[in-house]
Amino acid sequence: MLVLGSGGAGLLAALHAARTNPNLRIILASKGLIGKSGCTRMVQGGYNAVLDPADSLDKHLTDTLKGGQFINQQELAYTLVRNAPTMIHELETVIGCFFDRRADGRIHQKPFAGQSFDRTVHRGDLTGIEIMGRLRDALFAAPVHILEEVRALDLVRSADGSRIAGAVLLDPRRGEFVRVRAGVTVLATGGGARMYRVAAPSLEKTGDGMAMACRAGATLVDMEMYQFHPTGLLAGVSRMTGMVLEEGLRGAGGILTNALGERYMERYDSLRKERSTRDVVSRSSYMEIVAGRGTPQGGVYIDVSHLGAEVVQQMFPGMVERCSDFGYDLRRQPVEVSPTAHFHMGGVKIDAECHSDLPGLLVAGEDSGGTHGANRLGGNGVAESTVFGAIAGEVAARETPAGTSARLDLAQVAEIERRALQPLDDGSSGEDPFAIRATLETLMWDNVGLVRDGAGLNRSLAEIQTLTERAAGLSVPSSRRLNLAWTEALDVQNLLQVAEAVTRSALVRTESRGAHYRSDFPQQDDARWLSNVYLRYEDRVDPRLWTAPVAFTRMAPYLAVTA
Ligand SMILES: Cc1cc2nc3c(=O)[nH]c(=O)nc-3n(C[C@H](O)[C@H](O)[C@H](O)COP(=O)(O)OP(=O)(O)OC[C@H]3O[C@@H](n4cnc5c(N)ncnc54)[C@H](O)[C@@H]3O)c2cc1C
Repeated sequence: MLVLGSGGAGLLAALHAARTNPNLRIILASKGLIGKSGCTRMVQGGYNAVLDPADSLDKHLTDTLKGGQFINQQELAYTLVRNAPTMIHELETVIGCFFDRRADGRIHQKPFAGQSFDRTVHRGDLTGIEIMGRLRDALFAAPVHILEEVRALDLVRSADGSRIAGAVLLDPRRGEFVRVRAGVTVLATGGGARMYRVAAPSLEKTGDGMAMACRAGATLVDMEMYQFHPTGLLAGVSRMTGMVLEEGLRGAGGILTNALGERYMERYDSLRKERSTRDVVSRSSYMEIVAGRGTPQGGVYIDVSHLGAEVVQQMFPGMVERCSDFGYDLRRQPVEVSPTAHFHMGGVKIDAECHSDLPGLLVAGEDSGGTHGANRLGGNGVAESTVFGAIAGEVAARETPAGTSARLDLAQVAEIERRALQPLDDGSSGEDPFAIRATLETLMWDNVGLVRDGAGLNRSLAEIQTLTERAAGLSVPSSRRLNLAWTEALDVQNLLQVAEAVTRSALVRTESRGAHYRSDFPQQDDARWLSNVYLRYEDRVDPRLWTAPVAFTRMAPYLAVTA
């Protein structure tokens, strides 16, 4: 069995597979460092789980489906809700995480936007570090062969073409390929591609898993749904630009103003103002910025100083420290922020046991799509990655065929390796991957970001296709060892693949819903669009796109019937 990725989904997949079948040979390959890469470690706010007898699975499911504007795959949402309490119990009692507790000893749960009950479990405002640190220790004690800082390049079919039989990996330190045969492969590379000019996910997340799934011919769902968080720090040319300043700042009374000092949320949502949902606040800030009322760095201001310096320090120690790294005193002055690309709700279509529609390929965490519909609730991301990671591990252990794994299609392996090596020349004759990426990020931000329309999407699609053609001629220095320009070249190809899927899907959805806002179709159209958008590359050039109505297996829109 092969696990790709070492976030919450990847680590739980490996641990649960080892527990389910201690004799299984498990290989885990991760582009980043184990326990330190990916977004699970960046989780600040916390983890949603029903623990209090006054709360219920029904309430959590209703909140999740309402948040997703009722286009979630309901069985996935229910699986998350049903398994999250057990997973919190496992994280505490088996993995050894410490979560904040109340005076009476029960786990403390805080309120989070869009939830009808205070159900967010946390460890201060650094919950992800607690979870990932302990999971990492557990992984190192488990019978798992670890390939750290080794990236997957592509999934490989079996020689008879009947299933996914493993992957070709690249060890960038040695510049060598690694071919892995596996009865089952779990894709857990974390989605959340950084293809927007301002972005929050960890730097190595370039949509590799989704791009690999596209090239392998898997079906993806609702790729147009990309969530923007309202408050990403603006820190000049630093790579920390886009880093999330947590939701709690607005929840605690933080005020957003434009460069003219206007509290602009009064115009966009006079009732809830800054406490409006992520999509509304992000879009409102974006509109202020494009209308020319932005700050010097092209953002808006968030101000919590009126709460008092001591209160801010006590409530948000992590945020205060991060802001001070970039010369801001969050306790005493407004801080420049911008909407920031945060989380991809779309992804590979899976069932509740993480099966993709390609035999031999399971998908878990942010690489998968459908659980969150048109909008993810804060606190449901880490629940998704850990719950589905564990399921994928158990299913993989159960379904890995006995005996020797199927042989790889060697012609496909050779083609993957040829394509990966193509950019390596003297670095002077072809296209610069850094330049292509910068163009793509601006294009996506301006046209496929917070506000979209048909003309802009069509223009972007044409431009992405041109960039993809140019990327076929990328050129970087020829050394294979620790060649960061080569890494960038490989990343750019994946970013372009995902960007194209997002843009094509956004063109299909001719309405506005959740994170997807089309100024040419500004209304949510429930009569036509309680549907999902599917995409599959059948010939690797032009994808097939189609829509299908949501299956309301648990709850009709806005009306709870069962849970
Ligand atoms: C700043 C921030 C704050 C957040 N806060 C919250 C929160 O408070 N609550 C919440 O519920 N959710 C939160 N989220 C969302 C949450 O982090 C994600 O939903 C979740 O962690 C995704 O888990 P994952 O395992 O799918 O991916 P990740 O944790 O992102 O892990 C991906 C892994 O795949 C590896 N990888 C990438 N490409 C390859 C490749 N080609 N080959 C091999 N490995 C690869 C990476 O190195 C990494 O190890 C936050 C996200 C961000 C960005």
